[in-house]
Amino acid sequence: MNNKNDDNNYELLIAQWHHDRNLIEGSTDKDQYLKLMQEAGELSDSLCKGKDIRDDIGDMMVVLINIMVRNNLTIKECLSVAYDDIKNRKGKMIDGVFVKEGDQ
Ligand SMILES: [Mg+2]
Repeated sequence: MNNKNDDNNYELLIAQWHHDRNLIEGSTDKDQYLKLMQEAGELSDSLCKGKDIRDDIGDMMVVLINIMVRNNLTIKECLSVAYDDIKNRKGKMIDGVFVKEGDQ
């Protein structure tokens, strides 16, 4: 956390924030999942009311980072696995929802 690059790495800063507050060892994935749903509710509220959603999305990412740190994962690793899973996915839009091939 001592050089300029690290100061710009929010993933590391947020991981340290969780460690400093005993939110890794002192909490659980299940506790943090409930927190994630609480933050998802706040995002829903802001979307429904046309409010700024940046803080709500950021808060959800903060909680996801907590779960990632506890499981020794990184954002890059999780996004890589998720993208590999969807990159060649075929399907079609039905009422605004992408329905993947095989689920139709
Ligand atoms: Mg919030």
